[in-house]
Amino acid sequence: MDIKFVKRDVLKEKPDQKNLGFGKYMTDYMFEIDWIRGEGWVNPRIVPYGPIEMDPAAVVLHYAQETFEGLKAYRTKDGTIQLFRPEMNARRMQRSNERLCMPSLDEETFVEAIKALVNVEKDWVPSEEGTSLYIRPVVFANESALGVHMANEFKFVIMCCPVGAYYPEGINPIKILVEDELVRAVKGGTGFTKCGGNYAASILGQVKAEKMGCTQVLWLDGVERKYVEEVGTMNIMFKIDGEIYTAPIDGTVLPGVTRDSMLQILKEWGYKIHEEHVAIDDIMKAGHEGRLEEVFGTGTAAVISPVGELVYKDDSVTINDFKIGELTQKLYDELTGIQWGKLEDRFGWTQTI
Ligand SMILES: *Cc1c(COP(=O)(O)O)cnc(C)c1O
Repeated sequence: MDIKFVKRDVLKEKPDQKNLGFGKYMTDYMFEIDWIRGEGWVNPRIVPYGPIEMDPAAVVLHYAQETFEGLKAYRTKDGTIQLFRPEMNARRMQRSNERLCMPSLDEETFVEAIKALVNVEKDWVPSEEGTSLYIRPVVFANESALGVHMANEFKFVIMCCPVGAYYPEGINPIKILVEDELVRAVKGGTGFTKCGGNYAASILGQVKAEKMGCTQVLWLDGVERKYVEEVGTMNIMFKIDGEIYTAPIDGTVLPGVTRDSMLQILKEWGYKIHEEHVAIDDIMKAGHEGRLEEVFGTGTAAVISPVGELVYKDDSVTINDFKIGELTQKLYDELTGIQWGKLEDRFGWTQTI
């Protein structure tokens, strides 16, 4: 791919690495490429980061034809920069786009575009403990035409922002509300895709959870509201009687890269893994019987998020005395060890830039 580079006159000042937060500071540049029916992907370019001009009739604003991805670049001790399984994000975006009738970049081009942008933004990859460069690819229909149809023009953009340690004060367990009324996904829908529409539909649940003093929502299946699926931006795993339970990837749950990586590590460690539909009643019961040993969410942003309490209807269970579990901590250390290059990458997951 021949990427045009448009230089900016003045570079931004880099923020304090101890105070990065999440998604607050965008870097100097973004990658852009357009898709036009009949021509395919045209005009790849790295340009100064800034607003995109858009017609009020752009399809995405009315019919939400949009998908996105999220991954990180990590700076290792010796200063090199590495990506974690970017090909998984490329493939997942292809599956998301197929469902939403949108064009995709092929795997190599997707990874090449990310590498090219991160290479330009090398100095933005932070080096403080626990920090990284978050990379957000997004594709949307920007044709102006009000009729509902498969759009004829799309734009693919990659932006980056340095992000801070997710747990600057150490890992704290969260309290989660099990949502028993609203639903996030149904079979045949878009639950398995990373599309903005899924999030738009989930915010009400999030607001509800926050009103009840919870930080996240645990979604149940959309038909019976009986089986556990996933948390807002994370997959979720339960350790019951020493074995691991998590929802299967069968249409309603997002196939997380972190989920897949954790399962591979757990398998290697000899854990018995059940990718199956588990009823919330059984989870709560296990909790009351003291068999629910650990619960944790998995996702790129937080890596792992221990759950200290589950609230479901009039019931609630506390997990591991609201402390991070031993296995949760071990998994966190293992995966972040590989991502930041502190541990040997025995699975071949990282790619140096
Ligand atoms: C992105 C996302 C996840 C986590 O996926 P990772 O690839 O591990 O970051 C889980 N659930 C939802 C709904 C998501 O959007």
